[in-house]
Amino acid sequence: MTDLFAELEELRARDLPTHGGRTLAYVYDSGLPEADEIGRRALGMFASTNGLDPTAFPSLAAMERDLIAVAKPLVGAPSEAVGTVTSGGTESILLAVQTARDARPEVTEPVMVVPTTVHGAFHKAAHYFRVGLVPVDVDPVTKRAVPEAVTAALDAHAGRAVLVAVSTPSYAHGVVDPVAPIAAAAAERGVRCHVDACIGGWVLPFLDDPVAWPPGVTSLSVDLHKYAYTPKGVSLLLHRDPALRRPQFFAAAEWPGYTMLNSTMQSTKSGGPLAAAWAVVRHIGVDGYRELAATARRATLRLAEGIAAHPHLRLAAPPDSTLLAVETDAVLDVFTLSDEMLARGWFVQPQMAFRGLPATLHLTLCAATAAGVEDFLAALDEAVAA
Ligand SMILES: *Cc1c(COP(=O)(O)O)cnc(C)c1O
Repeated sequence: MTDLFAELEELRARDLPTHGGRTLAYVYDSGLPEADEIGRRALGMFASTNGLDPTAFPSLAAMERDLIAVAKPLVGAPSEAVGTVTSGGTESILLAVQTARDARPEVTEPVMVVPTTVHGAFHKAAHYFRVGLVPVDVDPVTKRAVPEAVTAALDAHAGRAVLVAVSTPSYAHGVVDPVAPIAAAAAERGVRCHVDACIGGWVLPFLDDPVAWPPGVTSLSVDLHKYAYTPKGVSLLLHRDPALRRPQFFAAAEWPGYTMLNSTMQSTKSGGPLAAAWAVVRHIGVDGYRELAATARRATLRLAEGIAAHPHLRLAAPPDSTLLAVETDAVLDVFTLSDEMLARGWFVQPQMAFRGLPATLHLTLCAATAAGVEDFLAALDEAVAA
């Protein structure tokens, strides 16, 4: 047994570190060892339970209800809103697209209208569900969706558009799209509007302003395995009311086995990530998340200031949340820079140039990174010089 774990340790040794705050993408570290331990314990306790049938495992249905009840007021959801726990942001988005498509069976060639900065998960949904993707360029300066352009695209695809999406914030640039005017335009045209709050949904509500659910927003996704700092495998998908969610359910009785009734894409699914999220969210609590969000936000602003002052670097946009996108001048290349940072023990994620938007370095700031911000800036200076 010790040999097995030695082997696992050896395999892990080549991975990026998940803790310590020096990996600025993929992982989220609260810097709270007790929260991590609680998550791991709950994950193990429920690892073998099966969300296939919540009547057989009522604990899972209860924990799902509890998490949705915590999330609703945070994202400003109306009281009649309903929610589902999914395996991640991609599954939440896939289901939002599938549900929008299947609510409009009369539309034979459905499309979704999306700002070019939406997450790749929307492209995956387009691919899986044959919903055409209509990309709309964002403002080249603010990197935010342009409501007039989105509305024009909706009108150009009148009768076929089943969904419009916005990000709060976008992964690539960390800016919040103007939700209210886009949701209003969608509602006027009878089109659903999904808010992708996968990465900001557990941060923005804990900063100063209360988060609103503008009229016209029909669904919203928020990942707990990001800024709720829970083990991987948990996101929430909220619908404004039960009728909007209905097409999400899948039932199959036309076979000799058990009647399948699934609310998500998975059938058999571990209750571990759900239980872990339930425990970590309870343990950290609203006040704890407020502190973690403030810490990550302070670190983001300090890094933003350091980067903006650098002669060879600039921000793609001022950060609305806890993500930064860094552009370089002509003498620097983001891929080389990211290699030089990795050589100094920091992982930053290069992002490709796309439709007139320059290549950038992506930084996701977690609470645990805050203590290392000055070290990061020093390493960045060295990496640029190299
Ligand atoms: C992370 C993310 C997703 C996808 O989530 P996964 O959990 O990686 O599947 C979608 N949208 C945004 C804005 C994200 O940051």
